[in-house]
Amino acid sequence: MCGIVGYVGEKHKTTEVLLTGLKALEYRGYDSAGMAYFIEDTIKVSKEVGRVQNLEKLLQEENATIGIAHTRWATHGEVTKENAHPHTQNKFTIVHNGIIENYQELKDNLTKKGYLFQSKTDTEVLAALLDFLYKKENDILKAINQLKDYVDGSYALGILCLDDKDTLYAIRKDSPLIVGIEEKDSFIASDVPAILKYTNQYILLENNEIVTLSKQGYTIYNEKLEKQEKEVLTFEGDITSAEKCGYEHFMLKEIYEQPEIVKNLVDYYLNLENNDFSDRLPSLLKYKKIHVVACGSAYHTGLVFKSLMEEYAEVETIVEVASEYRYKKNFYDQDTLVLVISQSGETADTLAALRKAKTDHIDTLAIVNVVGSSIAREADQVLYIYAGCEIAVATTKAYSAQLALLSLLALKLAYEKKLITKEQKQSILQGYIHIDKKMKKLLNQDYEKIVKRIYNRQDIFFIGRGIDYSMSMEGALKLKEISYINAVSYAAGELKHGTISLIEQNTPVIAINTSEHLKEKTISNIKEVKSRGAMVIYITNEDIEGDFYDEKIVIEKTSMFLQSLLTIIPLQLIAYYTAKQNGCDIDKPKNLAKSVTVE
Ligand code: GLU
Repeated sequence: MCGIVGYVGEKHKTTEVLLTGLKALEYRGYDSAGMAYFIEDTIKVSKEVGRVQNLEKLLQEENATIGIAHTRWATHGEVTKENAHPHTQNKFTIVHNGIIENYQELKDNLTKKGYLFQSKTDTEVLAALLDFLYKKENDILKAINQLKDYVDGSYALGILCLDDKDTLYAIRKDSPLIVGIEEKDSFIASDVPAILKYTNQYILLENNEIVTLSKQGYTIYNEKLEKQEKEVLTFEGDITSAEKCGYEHFMLKEIYEQPEIVKNLVDYYLNLENNDFSDRLPSLLKYKKIHVVACGSAYHTGLVFKSLMEEYAEVETIVEVASEYRYKKNFYDQDTLVLVISQSGETADTLAALRKAKTDHIDTLAIVNVVGSSIAREADQVLYIYAGCEIAVATTKAYSAQLALLSLLALKLAYEKKLITKEQKQSILQGYIHIDKKMKKLLNQDYEKIVKRIYNRQDIFFIGRGIDYSMSMEGALKLKEISYINAVSYAAGELKHGTISLIEQNTPVIAINTSEHLKEKTISNIKEVKSRGAMVIYITNEDIEGDFYDEKIVIEKTSMFLQSLLTIIPLQLIAYYTAKQNGCDIDKPKNLAKSVTVE
């Protein structure tokens, strides 16, 4: 998920090009770094946990002319030096971005064939597989080309082989990789910024294309190992715009990444061939009570989970803010599961709550993005959301990935308890398979008219019932975090018990209404604020005409397990464009930190 750089050439010092490239990719976030290059007939590997600077200290003055380098963002195996890339198996040394889904099965087979593994990564399995295929084929290109027949998952690979010290090999499938060109010198990189200091000429590799770099230049092969002529592109922007792939902010880039991340998560936790859950999704059947503990947006995903669990799986689910939970008396027992949710896996309050539950011998399950993080290591069980590095402080893609995973857990339980039929389950699972397309459609709508009506206001209200109330909490938080407008959320039915006194002529109220059985009730509440002068922005999955709103956003109707994955997109984009209109520092809002590691 993070960075790869490779270089073959005579114009520059290899280690310098590789370090410059890794530093330019630091914005993607990573936990360790490493490098491999040929010194005469041997491949020298250096790697270290932490910053690229730590790796830099290990390097000596050496005259390498061909090398590969990597920043790792762990997905399989903790953050340790052993797990850092490059990985070597016999003749092959590789760096890898991506995830190998069937790595355990491959590892078992290769172990039987005599391969021993030093790391816990999925990557080392690929190095062994390449070595195995090479022994069979006696041809490096053919071995690389056969990977696709064995491997499920995503990979961008930089490859060195002891039998060919003049060539750097690379391949990609579903993880990005480009080829950079500077006359006879050539590069591979996971993104343009890594090479921009040297060249702005690059080629985009397609899935399953292989490239070889040597002093004579580069050659690209298709799946049939036929040589390809490819268009050389020129990158016109500067380094910062390259890092953001053309998006103005990381937050916008991450919002746009959501459909793909949710799709990948669904692929990972479902068995698409059988239209069923995969074994990776645990069963919560043995628990009578669930305590969800989290902070901020993760707390809000817990609230959506609660609605689904109670409504469809009929299990009492209590959701608490971690900073409260850790200090209060908790009524849990052996039938309780404590489920903690944290993007970074380092959130101090959530970690403390987890430790408290563990001390009391209560089962714990963590939903985490960063592999090998403290929460991931300490929980009894961990489920990763694989959302990739999230850079913007305000979470978007990790939030959606958490929602998708939590809703799958609730769906599985509802099915196991026979509260929904097999047919219902199949049809909802079909919804998961197509949700990315529905999310994409919402990304490309025009929210400007709405933003114009709210960007200069001091207070904005968000209302909804049930799941929509949880969504309104997240919508308000996004807006507060990045635009600094005071946004408050209320259960729609609660307004008249006090807050309605704040509604004046033209007060913006963003009303969310997607739950079938609560629709009429919510409309009544909206009418209450409208008749007191509110300017209502209505977000709904049913396009009805009425005079109770001023602006309307219609999202597609889908199963309630999935609906919030659609509702969130207009909320995020309204927050984003409002903050932009106000000239706010969107990716780094004031006073906030990405990972809250203090109490
Ligand atoms: N899955 C590999 C690992 O955990 C690669 C991660 C990456 O893309 O950095 O080592």
